Amino acid sequence: MPRVKACVKAGPGQVNLVDRDLPDPTPGQALIRTSLTTICGSDLHMIDDFPVPAGMPQGHEAVGVIESVGSGVERFKRGDRVVSSCIVSCGHCYVCEAGDTSMCRTYRAPLNVLFGCQAEAYLVSSADRNLAVVPADMTDKQAIFAADIMSTGFAAVERGHLKPGQTVAIFAQGPVGLCATAAAKYYGAGRIIAVESVPERVAMAKRLGADDVVSPEGCVERIKELTGGRGVDLAIEALGKTATFDACIKVIRHGGTVSSVGVYAGISTLSIPTSDVFFQFTLVTSYCPGGTERLQFLMNLMQSGKVDLAPLFTHDRKLADIASSYDLFRQRREGVLKIAVTP
Ligand SMILES: [Zn+2]
Ligand SMILES: [Zn+2]
Repeated sequence: MPRVKACVKAGPGQVNLVDRDLPDPTPGQALIRTSLTTICGSDLHMIDDFPVPAGMPQGHEAVGVIESVGSGVERFKRGDRVVSSCIVSCGHCYVCEAGDTSMCRTYRAPLNVLFGCQAEAYLVSSADRNLAVVPADMTDKQAIFAADIMSTGFAAVERGHLKPGQTVAIFAQGPVGLCATAAAKYYGAGRIIAVESVPERVAMAKRLGADDVVSPEGCVERIKELTGGRGVDLAIEALGKTATFDACIKVIRHGGTVSSVGVYAGISTLSIPTSDVFFQFTLVTSYCPGGTERLQFLMNLMQSGKVDLAPLFTHDRKLADIASSYDLFRQRREGVLKIAVTP
């Protein structure tokens, strides 16, 4: 039973680094020695907004090296360098078999989130289908994007059925929104309009493929202007606020699509006006797709050089400084996008 340093929720708005006993892996599990982890907007929701109990280990994005596996794990072994899906799925329930792994009925949302990666080591259940070996020539700082934000950002575009040449608006250029911008570029959007005002995020949006970046104030009118009054084919909500969801509905063309990946923390309902585009439009929501195949697909894209997300890492910190790193990330100081946290 390894004893590890782990980041846990200390109370609302607070995390702590504690010593924690990790149980040995049970059947199907892998115990992974963390090489790299990071802080996600969802971690802030766990700490600040959701009724996650104090003491809950934090973190769901990581790359590491397998230390041991429980019985029944066949595809991975001690010494493999792996990235783990941030959403755990079983692979054999009817929802997994239908391909909607993030809605697995064995590991049910929200408990299918891989808690506990912000630690020296962590456990992954159903390891045979929630891990992927990282190619030798890929860095931890690349591979870790497959765990969550790249998968989520790409899902926003994929499930929005973007066709090459179409126009897309992406609301907010935080880490997930930026991944959606990279995805829109990769899938051949004709024009990418990002909505953002933080200078470093504006610059990164342009670097990853945004043709225009408009400020949130007056963005609906500006997007209508930029599209000759038509609106966009696809609007992506990547912030999780009522105002941006409303704006998405307002900027799509007739027959267009709203694709939502924001986490609406503290917002229990959204409303949709029943006039204008309502008569025929598509609304799709997505929760980070996981599983070995998905991880491999995303790593292939990065390995090919067609998608490069490594510049999103703006800061390097040690696990010992996790509490101050949460504050930095929460307050969006110093142009922070992603913080590379090493044990
Ligand atoms: Zn995340
Ligand atoms: Zn399942």
